Amino acid sequence: MIDDKNWDAIEPWMIDIRRIIHRRPELGLETPETTRLVESVLDGLGIAHTRPSEYGVKGIIGGDKPGGAVLLRADMDALPIPERNDLPFKSEIEGRMHACGHDCHTAMLLGAARYLKDNTSILKRPVVLMFQPGEEGPGGALPMIEGGVLENPTVTEACQVHVTSDLKAGLIGLTAGPSSGACDDFTMTVLGRGGHGSAPHDGIDAIYVSAAIIQAVQSLVSREQDPFDPLVVAIGTIHGGFRENVIADRVEMTGTIRTLTPQSRERAVRRFREVVEGVVKTHNARVELVVDPGYPPLVADISWTRRVKEILVAELGSEAVVDVPASLGVEDFAYIAERVPGLCLDVGIVGDQFTTGLHSPGLIVDERGLKAGAAAFTAVALRS
Ligand SMILES: [Zn+2]
Ligand SMILES: [Zn+2]
Repeated sequence: MIDDKNWDAIEPWMIDIRRIIHRRPELGLETPETTRLVESVLDGLGIAHTRPSEYGVKGIIGGDKPGGAVLLRADMDALPIPERNDLPFKSEIEGRMHACGHDCHTAMLLGAARYLKDNTSILKRPVVLMFQPGEEGPGGALPMIEGGVLENPTVTEACQVHVTSDLKAGLIGLTAGPSSGACDDFTMTVLGRGGHGSAPHDGIDAIYVSAAIIQAVQSLVSREQDPFDPLVVAIGTIHGGFRENVIADRVEMTGTIRTLTPQSRERAVRRFREVVEGVVKTHNARVELVVDPGYPPLVADISWTRRVKEILVAELGSEAVVDVPASLGVEDFAYIAERVPGLCLDVGIVGDQFTTGLHSPGLIVDERGLKAGAAAFTAVALRS
């Protein structure tokens, strides 16, 4: 199928679409221009579509076919990063860039949509196309689920694509089981009692207590966590104090807790609270701690992943399909994979011009990866 002549026309068309999207990056849930572009391309292909959320698009191919639908998902949002590349299609919006490759994802899904629409007669089941905003936050998958993206037709399996700077263009990576991390960000205010720096016994030093907290929470990683089950506890910001001879009465800290399984997540967040509250109590201070639950971990269904791997090996060749390790990055496709068997197709984009990875202002994608990603999507839709 990857050698099919159809791709000769689809590949350059898909790259053009990717470049149009790349020029006009949009952020978060507000992707009106990209959404309208997707809708007009679907109109041109004769594919019916709706909006399950304000800017989320759902397309359906083969809606009259029997059986459960397979959902293919692409995200559309960019990042608030200035592009440092000198490409003819570089970002035209200052301070914004498609540095996570979501422009490629949207183009790949449109490429697959065109192929599948041209070949509806050999399609065995309905295909749902999901174009979502807000993956980089605050989350565009849940609003689309609430808007019915998994119903009419009923979705029974799902897959997403994500470009990866760990693989050469042309390769597809798969992870079975836990694939992407869960994210729980926190803000913490340590409250002590101010006073003169020369009289520590009259105050409660919020800086000293904070230092004890920073040390103690790392014991969750080094002494309590199974070393084969990853956990990251990171303090990202710390602010407190007035001048050299004043005991700080408060310190504010923010940070993140990353885990790979629902069990680890529950335990890590609970123990984090207990350790922070224990240290604070020891030092007669107080703390206001708010943990903001982020995306859940993405757990790829084992048997669905095995099936997809067999399909991809048959279609793309065994040398093009590789097993890749899990990461502690987060992915809001996890909400889909909590409800139906799901997985991520990691699409290699490393080529000759590659210098730096995702979320970087110098990211240069080898666009030959788009065909591999679109062909993988297509194979899953046709063969599963
Ligand atoms: Zn990203
Ligand atoms: Zn991304």
